[in-house]
Amino acid sequence: MRAQEVSGKRVLVRVDFNVPVGQNGQVSDDTRIRAALPTINYLLGQKAKVILVSHLGRPKGKIDEKYRMDPVAGRLSELLGQPVTKVDDCVGELAQSAVDRMQSGDVVLLENVRFHPEEEKNNEDFARQLAGLADIFVNDAFGTAHRAHASTEGVAKFLPAVAGFLMENELNMLGKLLAEPERPFVAVMGGAKVSDKIAVIASLFNKVDTLIIGGGMANTFLKAQGFETGISLLEADKVEMAQGLIEEAKKRGVNFLLPVDVVVAVAADPGADRKTVPVEKIPTDWMALDIGPESVARFSEVLQAARTVIWNGPMGVFEMEPFAKGTEAIARVLAETDATTVIGGGDSVAAVKKAGVAQKITHISTGGGASLEFLEGKQLPGVVALLDK
Ligand code: ADP
Ligand code: MG
Repeated sequence: MRAQEVSGKRVLVRVDFNVPVGQNGQVSDDTRIRAALPTINYLLGQKAKVILVSHLGRPKGKIDEKYRMDPVAGRLSELLGQPVTKVDDCVGELAQSAVDRMQSGDVVLLENVRFHPEEEKNNEDFARQLAGLADIFVNDAFGTAHRAHASTEGVAKFLPAVAGFLMENELNMLGKLLAEPERPFVAVMGGAKVSDKIAVIASLFNKVDTLIIGGGMANTFLKAQGFETGISLLEADKVEMAQGLIEEAKKRGVNFLLPVDVVVAVAADPGADRKTVPVEKIPTDWMALDIGPESVARFSEVLQAARTVIWNGPMGVFEMEPFAKGTEAIARVLAETDATTVIGGGDSVAAVKKAGVAQKITHISTGGGASLEFLEGKQLPGVVALLDK
């Protein structure tokens, strides 16, 4: 971005301001807004006219009052210490006249781009309208870079398009991880479903020394190993594939670790009866909701010896206190090691924050899906469209 002459220019910046907004109409976690500040402040320092555009939630192509950008404009204005003009549309006359009134150093935040169905369809005419508001396009929305939408990919066809600092930093951090990881390189995968993450697991076999699997997805692998999984979350149609992945790991000499014990309960309820059992003793009418202490010990040992760790997906139903211990323990191990640690995934990041150790992690990715697709080795459409990719 620094190579572009932006002074006095109208710069359209695609940001990821998809933040949680509470009942009180206030932004309840401003991490993503803060993450865009380096780019915004740089542009303001260059006396550009900064036009911001983002999506918020899933309004499905219609105006939805609860997904308006006004709370974001309020919080951004506080963080910047200057007014932010919120516009009630992102294209058309409202947007154009707001931009026409801008002075150098002004900030405009356009309305939720997903209020228009053309956004997710990557409609060319809509992309041209967005582009018409500006002289230069900066994409700083790493979290949506894996989507070819009008405001991420389409608009880049009509304007000189470059990466913002957040985007650049994500690509550098994740790129380094794949290109030259210090070894041992360990990946920890968890979360609800294997199906979400099969592709990344398979591609990680080419890269990591050890793959650790926990969380709900571990059940499908345990089943593939012949264990009873009771009423645990299970993807029965993925058991065969899980079996295949285990064999593939063996063939490639990748150390493949599954939980050896789990916390089981009669229901996914903090008040439900629970106990810790070895994986070969999961009762038929109980469900596994967290990894047990012996699993934590084995995983920790491997993680403490690692030089590079990537983590995606919690080890258990961490939203409920009785099933959060495994996830918290792994978060602490990653916080204490001096290895390079990278965490992606909305829930994993939330878990690390909840454990209070986020500042001890080398890199917390702002993009869950985007970081997974990047690690799979896929080209991200929002990145491919940029001049400085
Ligand atoms: P991320 O957002 O970090 O990518 P996912 O969305 O894939 O993670 O998975 C997070 C969800 O997985 C959490 O809501 C958590 O409760 C759930 N989960 C983790 N372990 C289990 C389990 N054993 N059984 C059911 N759900 C689980
Ligand atoms: Mg999630």
